[in-house]
Amino acid sequence: MRWQSGTSDSDIEDRRGASGGGMGRVPGGGRGLGIGGLIVVGLLSLVFKQDFFSLLDSNGASDSGPNSAMSAPPSTESPEEKQRYEFIKFVVNDAQDAWTKILPASASVPYERAKLVLFRGRVESACGKATSAEGPFYCPGDQKVYIDLAFYDELKKDFGAAGDFAQAYVIAHEIGHHVQNLVGAEDELRSAMKGRSRSANALSVQVELQADCLAGVWGHSTQERKLLEAGDVDEALNAAASIGDDNIQKMSGDRVRPESFTHGSSADRTAAFRRGMQSGTLSACGIGR
Ligand SMILES: [Zn+2]
Repeated sequence: MRWQSGTSDSDIEDRRGASGGGMGRVPGGGRGLGIGGLIVVGLLSLVFKQDFFSLLDSNGASDSGPNSAMSAPPSTESPEEKQRYEFIKFVVNDAQDAWTKILPASASVPYERAKLVLFRGRVESACGKATSAEGPFYCPGDQKVYIDLAFYDELKKDFGAAGDFAQAYVIAHEIGHHVQNLVGAEDELRSAMKGRSRSANALSVQVELQADCLAGVWGHSTQERKLLEAGDVDEALNAAASIGDDNIQKMSGDRVRPESFTHGSSADRTAAFRRGMQSGTLSACGIGR
């Protein structure tokens, strides 16, 4: 992806330097070596699991966690992490700039900017406490996206999803949940599903696939603005496929159980992203039909 460092940090809440992390991240040392593949897969089976849907019903009313006022870079930051920080900052700014134009035009809803909270180890949100193991998530209660940048190491190492646009897709998916929150998409999906499966899992899958589609809508805008390089779209599609529920279940040595899916299969996730990417419209994602 064509991008630049030094973009505004006004949408970033940097809690990496806040005390209260301490979930095994050794300063300068990254994570320990003792994490076996199985455990990592077990942890990653939770990837994206806590975002949006499951959080809607939890106590989303309180304003924000105790650390919300702090914004400080970590005392130790490798050049790689600094670079990653700059890239993620670029993506969250670009995605939100794009939605500021897209949302009023196609859904007649003003876009309100979300904050991106960077943390290490564990974090408190209006949706409760969370750890890195749960993966990136969006909390509707405080309209913030939470991510531990170390997640990207796992995405690359354990899921083979490398590349900057794979990383961008993760942020764009979470911002997609914010867009859903702004337009009231979950209610719309719930009523669209009336008479069909009523299970919470089935609704969760629809919510997640729509967020993938909305990530694609942002992808479409980057393509129009000529920010994409060869291979970028494949990186995002590969990332979407790698964290499909069937793939995660296979990696965990489990039987594939579609009824237990909460995010959708690899095929469904890539199709959803592709749909948004190709059309660039909210209606392709089932919003405002
Ligand atoms: Zn999600």
